[in-house]
Amino acid sequence: MKIGVLALQGAVAEHIRSLEAAGAEAVAVKRVEELSELNGLVIPGGESTTIGKLMRRYGFMDAIRDFSAEGKPLFGTCAGLIVLAGKIEGQEDAHLELMNMTVARNAFGRQRESFETDLDVKGINEPIRAVFIRAPLIKSVGPEVDVLSTYKGEIVTARQGTLLAASYHPELTDDYRLHAYFLEMVKEAALAKA
Ligand code: GLN
Repeated sequence: MKIGVLALQGAVAEHIRSLEAAGAEAVAVKRVEELSELNGLVIPGGESTTIGKLMRRYGFMDAIRDFSAEGKPLFGTCAGLIVLAGKIEGQEDAHLELMNMTVARNAFGRQRESFETDLDVKGINEPIRAVFIRAPLIKSVGPEVDVLSTYKGEIVTARQGTLLAASYHPELTDDYRLHAYFLEMVKEAALAKA
């Protein structure tokens, strides 16, 4: 399976390393033409306003919506989760608007700008190590969205069919099991198309 990591801004190299550790071929994606050779795409953490602006500038909005409509999975982490969301609290406009959920940016406040914790994730046996950095939260989800994990009662991992979203940075630890989970989604989607 060949997975791309959207390389406009943010934590790209770390995702490539985790995807490779999970057994995928992984490449940085800078141009829309590169999407056609991929089975799945990661939208990394960084700064969602900047990533959104660059996505619009380089034609990625429609290209990634088409990619998703072809049944190819997307995985958004932190800022990437915000990019996937249908609604962003306090903002008029969202970005890809693919997942039926409302998110709040920088939802942990100044005191807890960044921290690490162990998280139980539905579908993964033992808790995973999660690094939160100025992280968003998922405030509400539509009926088609499956909540995979919560932290102190708030939703931090969710899946809607071929779309996976995490508030935190799974790529900043040596624990690549969430990437392995995504790789399973990509394999299932590729089989479903074959
Ligand atoms: N605070 C960032 C945003 O709102 C996300 C932070 C991150 O990706 N680590 O876009």
